[in-house]
Parts: sequence; C-alpha cells; structure tokens
Amino acid sequence: MYKIIDGKAIAQSIREELAEKITEFKKNAARDIGLAVILVGENPASQIYVHNKIKACEEVGIKSFAYYLTEQATQKELEDLILSLANDDKINGILVQLPLPAYLSDKALKLIPDSKDVDGFSANNIGKLCLNTQSTVACTPYGVMKMLEYENIEIKGKNAVVVGRSNIVGKPMAMLLLNADATVTVCHSKTKNLKEQCQKADILVSAIGKPKFITADMVKDGAIVIDVGMNRDENGKLCGDVDFANVKDKCSYITPVPGGVGPMTITMLMYNTYLSAVRSLN
Ligand code: NDP
Repeated sequence: MYKIIDGKAIAQSIREELAEKITEFKKNAARDIGLAVILVGENPASQIYVHNKIKACEEVGIKSFAYYLTEQATQKELEDLILSLANDDKINGILVQLPLPAYLSDKALKLIPDSKDVDGFSANNIGKLCLNTQSTVACTPYGVMKMLEYENIEIKGKNAVVVGRSNIVGKPMAMLLLNADATVTVCHSKTKNLKEQCQKADILVSAIGKPKFITADMVKDGAIVIDVGMNRDENGKLCGDVDFANVKDKCSYITPVPGGVGPMTITMLMYNTYLSAVRSLN
C-alpha cells in the first residue's frame, strides 16, 4: 500500500511555522524582511509564478518588491536594477524570474550577491553545497528534502537515482541526497540503460520535464518516488514525469502532481529569504 506525500499540507505547515518565526524576527530585529522579484517580459507562466510568490510573501509576512520590466528593457537596465537592490538594506533576497527573454544574458544573475541569492543558484552557493558547508540551497530540491524529512524517510544508505541533471534541480538534488548519505546515481538524456538504473532506486527522483515518462516497469517494488516534473498531458492537464496511475501501486511513497513538490518550492523560497534576513544580522 502506497502513501501519497501531500506537498500542499507539508508546505502549509512549514508556512505557518515560518510566519511565526518571521513575526518574532521582525519584533526582535525591529525591521522587515524584503524579497525583490524581477520579471522581464510577459511570459504568462512566469507571470503566474511571480503572482504566487508575491502571495506567499504576504502569507508569511515578508514584504515583496515587484519589478516588472518590459521586453524593451536593456541588459544594462536589468543589471542596474540588480545592483541597486544588492545595495539596498531593505532587500534580503533578489529573485529574477527565469527564463529571461532570449535577448538578455544570464550573466546579470551573477550580480546578485551570494547573501541575497535566495534561489541558491550562484556558483558560490552551489560550491558550498558540494562542500557540504552552510549554503543557500535551491528551493525545489530543498523542498524535496523537507518532504522526505516530514515523512521520516531515512535516506542514509539508500540507493537514490535522480533523473535529470539541470543546475537548478537535478544536480543540487543529487548533492543533497549524497550529503544525506545516500548512494546516488544521476541519469540524463545520454544515459544508456535508464530503465535498469531506475529499477535500482530505493528513492527515485524524476526532474526531466516529460509527461508520464517514468513507467511502472522502471520502478522497484516499495520505492519512494518523487516527481518534480510539471508538464501538460495530451489533454492539456497538469501532470508530472511519472505515470502516477500505473506507478503508484509499486511505491511505498509517491508525490502527486499537482500538490506534490510544486507547493514546496515557493515555501522554501520564503524560508531561504527568512534565513537570509537572519544571516544579515550576523
Ligand atoms: P531541464 O530541461 O533544465 O533539465 C531536464 C533534464 O532532464 C536534463 O538533465 C535532461 O538531460 C534530462 N532528460 C531529458 N530527457 C530525458 C530522457 N529522455 N531521459 C533521461 N533524462 C532526460 O529541466 P529542469 O531541471 O529545469 O526541470 C525539470 C522538470 O521539473 C520540468 O518539468 C520543470 O517544469 C519541473 N520543475 C518543477 C519545479 C517545481 O516546483 N515542481 C521547479 C523546477 C522545475 P540532458 O542534461 O542530457 O539534456
């Protein structure tokens, strides 16, 4: 019998705890916590993500500062904005909603100081994660670790297979699992025997971006399956990378899409912003 890991409920519980911590912080430090969110252009999905982030800020008591730049914005305008926020004491976290329009360069992101890199994407933060020292951890993989923690799932000694090696999900996910003493295999589009690799997984994390790609024959009996994917199926319905209906019966735990990893990501962004404010006092 499988258990569905309810990301929505876990995220809600973390947000409630966090709201209390933030109230306490603001009282003791006599200052607000600020998150700057920059959106360039009018990508509809990005607009929804930004809206949800602003809403989450309100919910936990973080002050949000939204900057909407048009598709005409130049690289210099974006970089000047980031630099001014980098020097602004009211701002504890700077988030540039990705993807940027193709004509702008990601090198603007390098201007975000590590201390305000609440996405955990900077080379320093990723390097520190590899060294297993204190760092800001990318929100989605951090959220996955919190879900495993909430379910009291032991990671130590387990075979973990991460499918996907992006800098924002797959790689930090693999590193976190390794730091938690799992034996980790990372698969990608050039992996030859993907099915056999996945079959070895006690913990299988899929972050590919292909609807229902992970099928029941790829999953070991009793596996813990974490589905990071956010895709549309043939009917335009939101679905994960995992063929949930057919895979679930083989699992001990499985995350749904929607309502699994998704709600955890924004929650960990709020958490990272809070941590950044706490560190700014030291
Ligand atoms: P990327 O496109 O950056 O990376 C996808 C990875 O999957 C790549 O490493 C790629 O391999 C690998 N891959 C693609 N096809 C295959 C295949 N057939 N077999 C094995 N590996 C394959 O995506 P992201 O990491 O940014 O996102 C992954 C998914 O997670 C997406 O659906 C995205 O929407 C979702 N997502 C969800 C979040 C949430 O909050 N729930 C947050 C962030 C992302 P290679 O490197 O060889 O190209």
